[in-house]
Amino acid sequence: MDKGMFNEHYDAVVIGSGMGGLSAGCNLARNGLKPLVLEKHNLPGGVTTSFVRGRFEFEISVQCITEYGNIEGMGPIYKFFHDELNLDLEFPKMNEGRFFSMKDKDLKTVLPLKKDELIAFINHRVPGSAEAVREYLDFCDEMLRAINFINDNDAQIKPMELIKKHKGIVAASGLTVKEVTDKFKIPKEALDLLDIYWTFTGLPMDMMSFPVYGTVLSCMSSTPVYAPHKTTFEVSAKMAEKLTQLGGEIAYNTRVDKILVENGAVCGVVTNRGEVIKTKHIYSNALPHNVFCNMIDKNDLPVKALKQLNMRVPGTSFLSLYIGLDKSHEELGLNHYMYYFAKDGDINRAYRDMEYLKPSEYFAGMCPNPLIADASPKGTSILHLETITKSSAWASVTAKEYYKTKCELGGALIDEASEVLDIPLREHIEEIEVCAPHTFARYIGSFMGNVYAYDHRVFDSVVIKAMTQEKERPIHGLSFVGNAGLLIAGFPSSILSGKLATVEQVEEYKKGGR
Ligand SMILES: Cc1cc2nc3c(=O)[nH]c(=O)nc-3n(C[C@H](O)[C@H](O)[C@H](O)COP(=O)(O)OP(=O)(O)OC[C@H]3O[C@@H](n4cnc5c(N)ncnc54)[C@H](O)[C@@H]3O)c2cc1C
Repeated sequence: MDKGMFNEHYDAVVIGSGMGGLSAGCNLARNGLKPLVLEKHNLPGGVTTSFVRGRFEFEISVQCITEYGNIEGMGPIYKFFHDELNLDLEFPKMNEGRFFSMKDKDLKTVLPLKKDELIAFINHRVPGSAEAVREYLDFCDEMLRAINFINDNDAQIKPMELIKKHKGIVAASGLTVKEVTDKFKIPKEALDLLDIYWTFTGLPMDMMSFPVYGTVLSCMSSTPVYAPHKTTFEVSAKMAEKLTQLGGEIAYNTRVDKILVENGAVCGVVTNRGEVIKTKHIYSNALPHNVFCNMIDKNDLPVKALKQLNMRVPGTSFLSLYIGLDKSHEELGLNHYMYYFAKDGDINRAYRDMEYLKPSEYFAGMCPNPLIADASPKGTSILHLETITKSSAWASVTAKEYYKTKCELGGALIDEASEVLDIPLREHIEEIEVCAPHTFARYIGSFMGNVYAYDHRVFDSVVIKAMTQEKERPIHGLSFVGNAGLLIAGFPSSILSGKLATVEQVEEYKKGGR
């Protein structure tokens, strides 16, 4: 056996240093265990990182940090980062509304950030809608409380406790967003203003699991939302540093190629250099499709694992543009941090269109400068435009066509944003990068370049997964963290899923086991 530069034994091996992997590693290390994080890239963070072009440093992914704050005060991310890991991190709080346009309705407006103001604003546009909107948003807040109950629960979730404490929510966990909003009888014009975050979650309302969108909507309307200050690479770097300070290890340029299984339980991993590292616990940031199809010998694979794969629907990816502009945000008139662009209220049509490579009619934008003064050099600004895209639509694009295709589709977003905002963006582009599913597949190794792992459909709802956790693990000792973890995809959920996944091992260790 070649163990290369590694020790004889680790309490756990973490595959990947995305937010899920780093928080799993940090939580194990802060509780006295010795984890080894193996990362195939030469940097930590997965998509929570940055890159530099010319005089600009671009955030790759996270625009909104939710669950740092909470309905009642500071949220679970704050508690984990500050109270438990003692990380020196600060995030600026968003303090002004979100720009929203709906082209076919000639609508350009700014949606207030706070719940009461948002309800009043919607009622002003759609008279008589206030009561229904309030009841719906209150219900979404209840959903967020139930999710926080799952996060706070330091032991395994006991289904009966969840049912007792959050009965209505457990019942709603089997519903789509549309089934819930139908019950509240919210007028369509009001829903158009509440559904704008669907581009973050990737599914239309009659397919999306309510717990997912309910949580997102509550976070966006009832809790403070924060932004990464020095890009999320700062978060990743500080977590990686903390992991080693706490006694964990992290090895870069090290890809896990194989997971070893014996009698239905994991017993180690093999790296790309052929090193064998023994362990009884593996936390994987790599998605189940990568793990079950490529990393485990098929004779060791229980049928249950394959059934799980077949049940899940691969999620969506992004077409993401990172643009450095040669004028300040004041000079250009980019006065908001967040932008949402929609054509009309027909999300189902927009979702169906994602099967094809055509210019997207729904997309989001982020200009950090109004909130973060030093986000780019003086006299410049940054604009990040992104739209969800189905990786399958890119499957027929040949290597020769790839560059042209992504530039054309990206160019369409720039032109649409220019028209709506009345800013000649193309004239001010100093630097630009366009990322497509291939980019994400290459850098984070995700299945089909999906950045959201699996679709958040009703049968794969977070509440249901929480209640059936044990059955979710077809191979003893192997847990998934991050996008494919217990919670939904996203920055806060990936962090919390990494922490949650390790709770059982930490408890066992505290009782004297390892
Ligand atoms: C463009 C974009 C915008 C986004 N905006 C937001 C937002 O505003 N708010 C929000 O909350 N979320 C947002 N997200 C989502 C959020 O960033 C992700 O859900 C989250 O960061 C994913 O974390 P993860 O733990 O799943 O790891 P990932 O970031 O997916 O990283 C996985 C890591 O594992 C490593 N790895 C994979 N396979 C192996 C292997 N075999 N061996 C070793 N290492 C391996 C990879 O190299 C990578 O470092 C956005 C994502 C994108 C792409």
